[in-house]
Amino acid sequence: MDLQQWTLKDVVEALRRGQVSSVEITRAYLARIEALEPHIHAFLHLDPEGALRRAAEADRLRTQAEDPTSLPPLLGVPIAVKDVLTVRGMPCTCGSRILEDFVPPYNATAVQRLLDAGVIVVGKTNTDEFAMGSSTENSAYGPTYNPWDPSRVPGGSSGGSAAAVAARMVPAALGTDTGGSVRQPASFCGVTGLKPTYGRISRFGLVAYGSSLDTVGTLTLTAADAALLFPLMAGFDPRDATSMRQPVPTITLPDEPDLRGLRIGVPQEYFREGLQPEVAQAVRQAIEHLAHLGAEVVDISLPHTPYAVPVYYIIAPSEASANLARYDGIRYGPRVEGETMWDIFYKTRGRLFGPEVKRRIMLGTYALSAGYYDAYYAKAQKVRTLFRQDFEKAFQRVDLIAAPVAPSTAFPIGTKTQDPLSMYLEDIFTLPANLAGVPGIAFPVGFDHQGLPIGMQLMAPPFEEPRLLAVAHAYQMTTDWHTRVPRFASQGAVGSTP
Ligand code: GLN
Repeated sequence: MDLQQWTLKDVVEALRRGQVSSVEITRAYLARIEALEPHIHAFLHLDPEGALRRAAEADRLRTQAEDPTSLPPLLGVPIAVKDVLTVRGMPCTCGSRILEDFVPPYNATAVQRLLDAGVIVVGKTNTDEFAMGSSTENSAYGPTYNPWDPSRVPGGSSGGSAAAVAARMVPAALGTDTGGSVRQPASFCGVTGLKPTYGRISRFGLVAYGSSLDTVGTLTLTAADAALLFPLMAGFDPRDATSMRQPVPTITLPDEPDLRGLRIGVPQEYFREGLQPEVAQAVRQAIEHLAHLGAEVVDISLPHTPYAVPVYYIIAPSEASANLARYDGIRYGPRVEGETMWDIFYKTRGRLFGPEVKRRIMLGTYALSAGYYDAYYAKAQKVRTLFRQDFEKAFQRVDLIAAPVAPSTAFPIGTKTQDPLSMYLEDIFTLPANLAGVPGIAFPVGFDHQGLPIGMQLMAPPFEEPRLLAVAHAYQMTTDWHTRVPRFASQGAVGSTP
């Protein structure tokens, strides 16, 4: 079994037709994980025995079923979950020492809904500590390496999930996107990343970072695969007060790549200096390709784009400083003992949080403190409204917005860790969608001269994920960037079953 060209859809169909069993497919992916994990470090926790046990159960259910159409749609399909989403009985470290021994007794809603649909969670993927980062280098358990070039970062913070999918260690993985953490690693690893509308998928069981920005998304090889997962997870959840009561659409992808009647806006602010010329070129070519499929392309403006980094890096740390107050050595995780309660707090938080998390807690606490609140937090909230208005205005003229995902392709490990500002600037093109709450999808549209993937993102009005998926699918029906396999991950006989 050569899994390198298998999409999630292929896996689902092969299982449905009885061409493979869930045990066979799970074993084959586990074999790839075993071979590649020492080089990629995509996982923080693996449960091969549990996965195989569940695969055997899935096979039994399938053979016993009298009516195969009554079976759960993703029965017996192995996936991975970013380690900031809870999976009952598996550790949830959030890439942090402060949650080293935390084993949550419940499933995140997104995870529970996929389990109800039949998936098997093989493990938890690496992430920047509490999802704070753009490179997965902020994980307390060591970085993940990009399967296209292990000397480079996979992006972040869902770097483990993106690398695992790119290396074909799993056919799909869950990530989270607060400021780009699904789209940017998707772009760096040459896979497809869907960030839904804020409120579309429940945040229950997603460890809070920036609560007004956090979303649960998917990393897959194709938009068609994202279209399999997204509707299963979406929809109102009484356990998340910000989840929306919007009905969940059935997603029908077009049979023909016909984009006539679609208007795509290209924001001029995304093509300014600082953008790697090869990225600009590949994205422009991809936009031309969409025009070739019938879309009308128009120039638009999102004038507040230059303020995305300062606004996000006030709001997200402010929310983080409040959300992370609960990790005090008393309620969760390990404790560093001390003389007094304050001493316990001080030592536990001082020793078990990493440097980036501490930086954000300090930034956020400062921005929220009396005397500075109006100057920083309140002002950032006002500018956030302007971002929403930028998008509202743009979407009066166009159906979708096309833009680069990141200013550059994957950068070498260690090059930005000493300079937080240069790391934050990496996020400029992904942050606006989070600030405005709109959905986005990133997918590969080319490679640079070093063979590193280049991604493009499409953004849509709230709740228009089906449109994003349909257009990305039309692009993928007529191009083959998404089928390329990292050479590193294709070496040897990994992935073959005996
Ligand atoms: N890179 C951004 C940050 O560090 C976004 C992270 C995310 O989306 N979780 O906050």
